[in-house]
Amino acid sequence: MRTKINRLLALGLALALMLPLAACKSTGDGGQSQTPAPSQNEEQPAATPTPTPTPEPEVDPYDAVRNYWSEDQLTQAWGPDQPVEHLFFHPLIAYPQFAFHDASIPESQRNGLDDWMVTVDEFKKIIQSVYDKGYILVNMGDVWSEVTDENGVSRMQRNTLMLPEGKKPLIISFDDVNYYEYMLEEGFTSKLVLGDDGQIWAECTDPYTGETFLTQDLDATPILDNFVLEHPDFSLNGAKAIYSLTGYEGILGYRTQNDIDIAADDPARPAFDAKRAAEIEAVKPIIARLKETGWTFGSHTWGHINLGSDKVDLAWVQRDTVRWAEEVGSLVGPTNILFYPHGARPDGDDWHNTGAKFQYLQSQGFRIFASVGINAFSYIKKDISAVICDRLHPDGTTLRWARSRYLQFYDAQDIIDLTVRPDLGYDFSK
Ligand SMILES: [Zn+2]
Repeated sequence: MRTKINRLLALGLALALMLPLAACKSTGDGGQSQTPAPSQNEEQPAATPTPTPTPEPEVDPYDAVRNYWSEDQLTQAWGPDQPVEHLFFHPLIAYPQFAFHDASIPESQRNGLDDWMVTVDEFKKIIQSVYDKGYILVNMGDVWSEVTDENGVSRMQRNTLMLPEGKKPLIISFDDVNYYEYMLEEGFTSKLVLGDDGQIWAECTDPYTGETFLTQDLDATPILDNFVLEHPDFSLNGAKAIYSLTGYEGILGYRTQNDIDIAADDPARPAFDAKRAAEIEAVKPIIARLKETGWTFGSHTWGHINLGSDKVDLAWVQRDTVRWAEEVGSLVGPTNILFYPHGARPDGDDWHNTGAKFQYLQSQGFRIFASVGINAFSYIKKDISAVICDRLHPDGTTLRWARSRYLQFYDAQDIIDLTVRPDLGYDFSK
């Protein structure tokens, strides 16, 4: 609702600004004369003003975020040796009572939701807490950059970030923002959409009533959008979060994946292709709006493949990488950031070794390789232009069993919703 109000205010302001201009224009003498004398109006009826179409005012509420910090306020240099924290989230559980209790899903799946995800309410509390503790969102792509020396050798370097005084940089990433089919049965939202108001909304189906509606309250993207609109000092240069996307069930809730797995003579193919073409057209304006409002995109591999597994050989990694570029990169644009599925490092270890899979991925343009870990570890590789970095994971496992590690961001005791989560224990002394 807030964005609608902002828009109405903006519209009102724009109209107020246009009215004097319109009044001047109607005098027909370059806007120099005063209002015609009343007598003139009595003698001859005023000409019917020519209706001129009122242009939609181009006031974007996000401008206030983008321009909140002026350059002269960014006086704190955050050097290469100071950590840039990174938190990542899976899709939020919109209906926790349903997901944890009422959905007919196997126990193991239910526990997986508890392990790896947070609820909408927990997410909102986490965002409020990191904001209260002085973190500011930064664009992951601004943290490192590639430099080439006089011998033509390129390496990554950690940049010095210029921040407002008292703020600490934070990257947020959202994994698997694909709205997988299985999640739609478990109390999650189902896609991102562009509202008539120009803002991002989420489509959601109430699992109890079957009613489908648009919401900004049950999905991480519009929740973060609105939080940043209300707290513009939480964002450096308009940064929001980065999406880590697979491709096998399309992106952002749109089934944009291709049909190379369907036989050429399969009768289902024309319908699939028509649906795919429509989905591609439908997702484009959403991607455009997200990019315009500080969101960025990285790869999570096309097939969510386990890069650490021996079963996933180099040829598989190559096929997968090409497919991501064709089906996802073609829509969201190129990226140099790869988020390892399952946090699994290629070739067993990407820190001490640079194996064949890593080399291939680097040759395809990836420079920043993100895993999952227990702190803000990052390491610039010496033998190849690449940086590896870890992310922390607010979720059921860490809320229950790793409170101390996250105290710099929030107190798990204040966040975890034990009234709705399954009874799986916790130890807040850890
Ligand atoms: Zn994933």
